Amino acid sequence: MKPIALSLLATLSGVILLPAAIETPRGFTAASGQAELEWEKKFSAIPDPSRMREAMRRLSAHPHHVGSPYDRQNAEWIRDQFKSYGWDTQIENFDVLFPTPKERLVEMVSPTRYRASLAETRLPNDPTSGQQAEQLPPYVAYSADGDVTGPLVFVNYGVPADYEELERHGISVKGAIVIAKYGGSWRGIKPKVAAEHGAVGCLIYSDPRDDGYAAGDVFPNGPMRPAQGVQRGSVADMPTYPGDPLTPGVGATKNAKRLTVAQAQTITKIPTLPISYGDARPLLAALRGAVVPSGWRGGLPITYRFGPGPARVHMRVKSDWSIKTLYDVIAKIPGTTEADQWVIRGNHHDAWVNGAEDPISGLVAELEEARAFGILKSQGWRPKRTIIYAAWDGEEPGLLGSTEWVETHADELAQHAVAYLNSDTNGRGYFGVEGSHSLEKFVNGVGRDVIDPETKLTVNRRVQLSRIRNGRGDDRKEAREREDLRISALGSGSDYSSFLDHLGVPSMNFGFGGEDNGGIYHSIYDDFYWYTHYSDSTFVYGRALSQAAGTAVMRLANADILPFAFTNLAETSGRYLKELKKLRDSVADQITERNSEIGENVYFATSDPREPTVAPVRQSPAPQVNWDVLDKASDSLTKSAARYDAAYAKALDRMSGSNASRDAQVRTINQRLLQAERALTSEEGLPGRPWYRHMIYAPGFYTGYGVKTMPGPREAIEQHQWANIDHEIGKVAGALNREATLVSELARELDALR
Ligand SMILES: [Zn+2]
Repeated sequence: MKPIALSLLATLSGVILLPAAIETPRGFTAASGQAELEWEKKFSAIPDPSRMREAMRRLSAHPHHVGSPYDRQNAEWIRDQFKSYGWDTQIENFDVLFPTPKERLVEMVSPTRYRASLAETRLPNDPTSGQQAEQLPPYVAYSADGDVTGPLVFVNYGVPADYEELERHGISVKGAIVIAKYGGSWRGIKPKVAAEHGAVGCLIYSDPRDDGYAAGDVFPNGPMRPAQGVQRGSVADMPTYPGDPLTPGVGATKNAKRLTVAQAQTITKIPTLPISYGDARPLLAALRGAVVPSGWRGGLPITYRFGPGPARVHMRVKSDWSIKTLYDVIAKIPGTTEADQWVIRGNHHDAWVNGAEDPISGLVAELEEARAFGILKSQGWRPKRTIIYAAWDGEEPGLLGSTEWVETHADELAQHAVAYLNSDTNGRGYFGVEGSHSLEKFVNGVGRDVIDPETKLTVNRRVQLSRIRNGRGDDRKEAREREDLRISALGSGSDYSSFLDHLGVPSMNFGFGGEDNGGIYHSIYDDFYWYTHYSDSTFVYGRALSQAAGTAVMRLANADILPFAFTNLAETSGRYLKELKKLRDSVADQITERNSEIGENVYFATSDPREPTVAPVRQSPAPQVNWDVLDKASDSLTKSAARYDAAYAKALDRMSGSNASRDAQVRTINQRLLQAERALTSEEGLPGRPWYRHMIYAPGFYTGYGVKTMPGPREAIEQHQWANIDHEIGKVAGALNREATLVSELARELDALR
């Protein structure tokens, strides 16, 4: 039946579909690759959409946030599932600070009175929306307690550039309560930047232009955010450090040394609350002052103005700051010959409320992989390396469960972890992959062997064709011509963060999406009803996620030589370096231009005397930057990587049958290979945040939504910290040089294999 459907589709779309090439998976010899592909075929037939649907119904039946009874019940149920599939399974507990709301108030006290409802209402045809007694009401976790009153100021997304715009209009937020839109940055940046500018409170709302009625019909008639829908979330200062605020750098075990709440660095300085666009509208409508620039305007039927005031707002936040227990489910299949090399896969199980999409849609795919591995095991399959599957608790408040686990097991992980593969949410559409560039070639091999359930193209081919259609200029050309689809770097949005950023464990994140737009993120409406009406309602993309992630895990666990490729890393690092140079030049040009304009009286001339704006202050010009060490390091990695990839292909061609002395050499090579990403970390970490040790990626400190590449020098340039730049460049160069040395030594060892 499949071939007919394939050729029919091929004719309809005019695309010539070749049968999927049976390519030996990267890392295997011709013979071992054949055996691997046969097991993969058996594996891929097992994941079952109807079981995923039933698991989602069960896991999202009640709110299951950290500390709730259903969170624990889910963890125990997940543990029992793994056990029934034949995995060696345990729950690991951690004790973390997780504040839950006791008091929440937002009211406008003048010129008119309005009290915000701060409530999401039940919808008659959505059964779980009525579980009020079990729901966490709308709030943001790790907001400081406080009771404040002040004039209201609209600050757009609330990122530093927005405050520069406010300054030009002569508007200060000192003593004010700011109201910011969701979007444009990580949520926790908004109260942080507001407090730095002297604001006393922060409101964050979801504008209907972004995920409400302007984007589509609202729930339950459509997938978008209804007027009362609120996005919960964490506002902890995660770019400083993720995980439990009381135990930075160490696992939050029973007897861990803890900071006091007052000492914790990642709690906001000012009270913060999220509100719906229903509640935001009267507040924004009561603002006066100049009309905001067009980029700031949203989708409400009002004129958006800056303020300050005359609207005055009173807000109060008070939380229960008690310690709650996390339940991480950790399941293992021990490896046979390489048991001390670990392949790790995870998805979180906690949610803000019912969380059908986030995170259950990813978790149910992971559970089906686990069941499939159990079945393969009963048929005689065994992984060479140890496979560890995790269902993390406490991701939502701040990557708590994964971070505390990584911190507790840091020494073992640094030695044994081959890679970490994460998923979080899953939907309909395109195969999304982000991750370590040394795994780019590997993951392209996986994506060429998984079929998109709706178009029947391979998932990679579909992404490639969409990039040809949507890409511009070089991107389109690259999509046509580059051997591998480019994957982007990982930020800090999910549980891979501490694996990658802290330890240098090569990591990837998988998920389908792009045809599943919705406005239910972190609200009570992210539930079974919404998911089964508006997202992957047949769970066929759930099955595709199981197939992709399961195939990746199998290949990593059984490859003869670990499938890293460093040419992709070298080329991408070269691009990051080019971007840095461009950034330095454009910052330098901006400073020069602005200083000239100040001298030419441009700002005086263009300030409307009736609505005057203030001229910016003169800045000292950007110095020249010496890139020599980084250029050299980048070249040296490029050369070593090319040598390595050639040696790698030849070595696998030469290998066949078993040979005890060669097996021992291969084991040594694999042991060193799994350290390759660690070479990109530095002991010193990033300025002001020593937990972030990866020199090529880090979450953005201020404006970045996700990832900053070569973050040390990049932040020095963005923040005009010119005195630090040589040192930060040196750290990145050091990382690339360590990598180049390791890779060229490994190339020699591969050449010596007989
Ligand atoms: Zn999630």
